[in-house]
Amino acid sequence: MPDINNGILFSYIGEVQRGLRKFETAAQSISRMILEKKVEKKTCAGRTVYDFAFFRQGSYHIIGWYSEINEFVHFVKNASEGGSARKMAFVLVGEPGNGKTFFVDYICTKYRQFLTRPENRKHTFKFIGLDKALGYDEKVSEMHSLTFEDPMMLAMNLFESPNENKELLAKIGFKDNAIEALYSNRRPLGASTEYLWHELVSRFNGDVQKALEHVQVIPIPMRESLGTTTGKYSARDKITSSSVDLLGEESLQHLLLLRLGDPNKFDLRRGALARVAGSGIHFSDELFRNKKDLVQIYLQVIENRNIELDGYIWPIDTLIIATSNNDAYNEFVSEGSEGPIKDRCRICYVSHNTDYKLQKELTCYSLGDQKKTTILGEEMHEDPNLNFATSVGVVLTRLLHSEKLNPIEMMKLEAGETAGEKGVKTLTEVKESANANPDVTKRWGQKGLGHRSEGRILQILEALPESNEGKCLFAKDVFKVFERVILDYVTEAADRDKYMKDLKIARRLYREQVRTAIFNAYRDDPQAIQRDVMNYVNMVIGIGMGIENLGPEKRWIYINPQTGESKSIQIDTNYISNVENRLGLSNNERQESFRTTIRKIYAKKSLEKPNYDFMDNQELIKAVTDVRLESDVAGAGSLVGALANRTNDENLKVYTKIVDTMIKLDYCLTCAQKTIEYFCEKEDES
Ligand SMILES: [Zn+2]
Repeated sequence: MPDINNGILFSYIGEVQRGLRKFETAAQSISRMILEKKVEKKTCAGRTVYDFAFFRQGSYHIIGWYSEINEFVHFVKNASEGGSARKMAFVLVGEPGNGKTFFVDYICTKYRQFLTRPENRKHTFKFIGLDKALGYDEKVSEMHSLTFEDPMMLAMNLFESPNENKELLAKIGFKDNAIEALYSNRRPLGASTEYLWHELVSRFNGDVQKALEHVQVIPIPMRESLGTTTGKYSARDKITSSSVDLLGEESLQHLLLLRLGDPNKFDLRRGALARVAGSGIHFSDELFRNKKDLVQIYLQVIENRNIELDGYIWPIDTLIIATSNNDAYNEFVSEGSEGPIKDRCRICYVSHNTDYKLQKELTCYSLGDQKKTTILGEEMHEDPNLNFATSVGVVLTRLLHSEKLNPIEMMKLEAGETAGEKGVKTLTEVKESANANPDVTKRWGQKGLGHRSEGRILQILEALPESNEGKCLFAKDVFKVFERVILDYVTEAADRDKYMKDLKIARRLYREQVRTAIFNAYRDDPQAIQRDVMNYVNMVIGIGMGIENLGPEKRWIYINPQTGESKSIQIDTNYISNVENRLGLSNNERQESFRTTIRKIYAKKSLEKPNYDFMDNQELIKAVTDVRLESDVAGAGSLVGALANRTNDENLKVYTKIVDTMIKLDYCLTCAQKTIEYFCEKEDES
């Protein structure tokens, strides 16, 4: 038995035993990396999901992807516990531009950061002094473990008999169960390492200690450009691609210097897999677009977890994540090659983001955080409604048309908002029936304008002459660009028609947004409409409590759930019936049923979300705005009239006041004026 107090490998093993170093598989490290951050339970479109804080770190993180992330985390966890996922690849399948590559890149970047922490750092080893020990040529006197094997892997393969190995580990201080845990991750040595190790041991007549003098433990280099630890292999446009790209090949140089039969003649690191074989991540971009023989190699590597060349075998440990666009996947499956893929790949269908609120964050990414400038280099302003208009525009194209829910109801329910009588259960039904379709493209969120289209739309908007002249990205202009992109880039006529219809709805929603904004500006109060809406709600609740109990002044005292303060409101039955008339609730019965719904929503929401303000109820907002516009704006008869006809001083004053307030609310002069102009037109009225 060798002296464990002497030797680089033994001191490394000691560090592992004391917990200073980790011996983990890729899946175990990644799982630990994800789960060391907070995990929260969330409700998302009616379903409970776990939200992993790991995926939300930094200014440029993953938005949404709740179910996909859950699937991924379960996959990694299963693999880390030695489950069937260990011999599978995780494959993200979906439309182009829905964030698949971003997702994998995010994980790879974070993983590299995680591994730079000293306690997480991965190590490997190399053989040194081979010229002296084995008479190798000086040029090959140093040889690395070609697959970045962990030093612990060598530690478990020092002796031919497993018992001798375990005895050594016990001597270093590992308890029985710790040894069991180590051995659950044990693999045989790769052909090249095993060859050298046995050469050394036999050279020193079985003296392991002496042989170990020629072994040096080194950290695994982590240079992104070299593709070590995390590496990507893209299938696209590679006519000349071959198995060498993945597995490596014989090195002519080594062939000349090494003895016959020495597996070190292979240059494995010429291939993408060996470089990530030391508990790294291999990212196969567009897996099914590879040539047939490469896909076959992949399927073998995925299942057997080794690199095989000329009968020599190198076991590897790597997490394999792949992506594929729908069409490439469908094509591959339709060729009847489905069987092995289903066995060896965990397919995760990725939909486009369909939550318009989350989309606002994604649109922020597309808009970029850099200041925009005009052609002449002047600062370009961004209309405060631009993000909303764009987000709603793209999300609506991604939603299905269904008889059960109209697009607006669907959009609201998906974003966790209320949609009148319709509940999230209906949405779930719509999704489930769509997802039962064997054609992937017909499933939930698979069609529609993707993230790249959105980027393109915003780029074109930026280049428009009107944007450059007005030095502002005016929200309404984005719809023109949408039309152009739909006409130019959407190939299927049926899709184009649908998107055009969706665009009309988006314009209507934008118009509502503008009305609210202008009215708030008119009142010089960004919350004016919200307050009026809540007044209506509170009055309706007051009436529900029995008007006879409210005294002659009809004052209703309630507790503001947001602040806990008690407040009093005078019930204005005129106002209530005006709002309800505007809502088209013509008789008592319909009014009563609407009020009941409002009360129900209030009761439910005041528990979940005390600051819920009904501002997702477009119809109610519109009715309240209409009523207010009628009663507040005297003179020209209506605000529209006043703003459109500025020949008299009174009206001009109103106009100037509104523009001033809008500028305070983040508009610039251009978009303030253009927005008012749009407000005065009849365009997009519903
Ligand atoms: Zn502007």
